[in-house]
Amino acid sequence: MKRLSQIFQPIITIPKNAKIKNTDITSKSQKLLLECGLVRPTSSGLFTLLPLARRSVDKLENLIKNCIETTGAQRISLPALTPANLWEKTGRIADIGPELVTLKDRHDKQYLLAPTHEETIADLLADVGPLSYKQLPLIVYQISNKYRDEHRPKHGLLRAREFLMLDAYGAHTSLDCAHTTYQRMTAAYQRLFDQLHLPVYQVRAPSGDMGGSVSHEWQLPAASGEDQIHVCVSCSQASLASESQKSCQACGANTKVLSSIEVGHTFILGTKYSDPLGAHYVPSSGPSEPVIMSCYGIGVTRLLASSLEALSTDKALRWPRAIAPYSLIIIGPKEGSKEWSALGENHVHQLHEAICRLPGLDNDVLVDDRHQMTIGKRLMMADRLGYPTIVVCGKAALDSPPRYEVYQTNTEVDATVRMATLDELLDLLSNGHDKDIAANKQ
Ligand SMILES: [Zn+2]
Repeated sequence: MKRLSQIFQPIITIPKNAKIKNTDITSKSQKLLLECGLVRPTSSGLFTLLPLARRSVDKLENLIKNCIETTGAQRISLPALTPANLWEKTGRIADIGPELVTLKDRHDKQYLLAPTHEETIADLLADVGPLSYKQLPLIVYQISNKYRDEHRPKHGLLRAREFLMLDAYGAHTSLDCAHTTYQRMTAAYQRLFDQLHLPVYQVRAPSGDMGGSVSHEWQLPAASGEDQIHVCVSCSQASLASESQKSCQACGANTKVLSSIEVGHTFILGTKYSDPLGAHYVPSSGPSEPVIMSCYGIGVTRLLASSLEALSTDKALRWPRAIAPYSLIIIGPKEGSKEWSALGENHVHQLHEAICRLPGLDNDVLVDDRHQMTIGKRLMMADRLGYPTIVVCGKAALDSPPRYEVYQTNTEVDATVRMATLDELLDLLSNGHDKDIAANKQ
């Protein structure tokens, strides 16, 4: 049984009437993650993920992995340290110089801590190549920490200097083949955002420093977002505000402007990296040619923080159900109460066991065993942390049959309480998963 009293969760309690001067806290997700003991800053733009946040990120990584691998992508791990000369060959070291974290080893060789790995992949393909056309398309991906020397890191995990990212790379014989992979990857992104119940919009985007011919950003609407998208009121087609018209290009209906956060980016790169780094393949006839590359990114910790920005209130965290640190918390009776003397801790253990037998919930249930605290105080804290389901074993547990208070925090009606017997509770938990709100789809 997982007990809340054993979880490493350094909560910050701000005394009433305290004057808060912490001007570094500039976003809702940053404030709540810090105060609820999920994340701690170590230095500007650098964060420790504490156990509850780490659990959520683990769940998110798993979802991403499962979605991305439907495209045939194979997982690899590339070193974060990248020889700077690779970036000199593609000219990017000059293009994004100040944002790169660079360093030298003891032999005076220059490295950078990679913010992305197009050069490393192209170098790998050159090293093992030339590949045969029969080996293509090849799609590889990794989920690893990336680095960016942000001029002004802010909003916590939304703009950090070290962050977790999915990056996938495709190698192809032709632009047609690259487009096919691109479509597959687009479908995988959509599957991921559907599973999170997040209304993420795919918008056409300029390719910028990355180069290439086709590019899309993936934008999640959130009031605190620094980007803006125009979304058609009729067909939901979206575009970046910078290139948008007042009416929708697809259907002519009006558009509305939404603030949003970029959570992913996809590109068809052409030969911008394969050509200078010599990543070639041998076609069915004729001499070898540079491969056509595509690449795909999702900011993992950024997506987590963005979803919290989109779903949470100013006072309470709200998670996509699939990535809440724990799906359910049980709050047991207060020590010394009538129900404590009558039922004791054993009743909570039995309740816990029954819930854990439900598919998908074993290992995902936490028990708030801080019995010295009132139920009300623990309920308030559980609501603030945003466990999707809170089950309270209070006075009504003395009824025959016992009944429990059940709160579902991310359903349409905020924190609706209902009384349920064990059978009703198990029934609710087995069937309740389609009742998620679709993240303020506007
Ligand atoms: Zn439209």
